[in-house]
Amino acid sequence: MDAKTNNIILQVNNIYKAFGKNVVFKNASFSVVAGDIVGIIGPNGSGKSTLANIILGFDSEYQGEIVFNNDVRIAYVPQFSNSDKYMLPLSVYEFIRSTANAYYGLKDVMNKSVIIKVLQHVGLDKKYLEQNVYSLSGGERQRVFIARALLNNPNFILLDEPLASVDYMSRNELYSLLQHLNQTHNITIMIISHDIDSIVNVCDSIFYLDKASVKDCKPKDFLKGSKTTQALKYNCKI
Ligand code: ADP
Ligand code: MG
Repeated sequence: MDAKTNNIILQVNNIYKAFGKNVVFKNASFSVVAGDIVGIIGPNGSGKSTLANIILGFDSEYQGEIVFNNDVRIAYVPQFSNSDKYMLPLSVYEFIRSTANAYYGLKDVMNKSVIIKVLQHVGLDKKYLEQNVYSLSGGERQRVFIARALLNNPNFILLDEPLASVDYMSRNELYSLLQHLNQTHNITIMIISHDIDSIVNVCDSIFYLDKASVKDCKPKDFLKGSKTTQALKYNCKI
């Protein structure tokens, strides 16, 4: 099917993926509507990061197909690991400049004014340019990651566990930012999370990874409190 005909930005078709005998996906299929905020949920080890790697093209060892709309411009906000804190100290400016090249092949983002502009888009003042990236709060750090993603002028952003080290108040602010980018800049947003509660209010659709397949759930189902949804909820907590 032509992905464009239905305003579908991404189709995941019959993915089979195994690591040795560990079958992570058997026949996983789902579609993402352009302009939606989409949640991918599932317990630890259910294959969320594996799916992200396949969608992003980092992993090509699978069967099935990933079909993107021709006009897609993808940006990725990776999961932050606490061990990253022990890397070399870098200012926000140095961090964005050095890693934007590796992530997006962007060579001409040395210009501070370009970086100041994307920082403004995520609500960070230019004074942050000189701050050590590892001294930022969890919420500020995610904003810097999102600012870097914006350098690629994306219309599809995939975020892996973006709320992992972000406190409750900052989560709401981060959601407001994602909703703003979604609505004002028409960016399709895919949020990977192990925690339904943290994303249910912000998503237009939710895909639940379970038993090597993908189930299409409606966000409102998770708010009804049925036994099934409570069970799903419980499973997705760590
Ligand atoms: P999640 O992100 O949902 O926590 P992952 O996608 O990281 O789950 O992992 C899914 C399964 O695949 C797990 O059983 C994990 O051990 C396995 N796995 C992930 N990456 C590799 C790898 N590079 N080699 C072998 N097994 C892997
Ligand atoms: Mg993961």
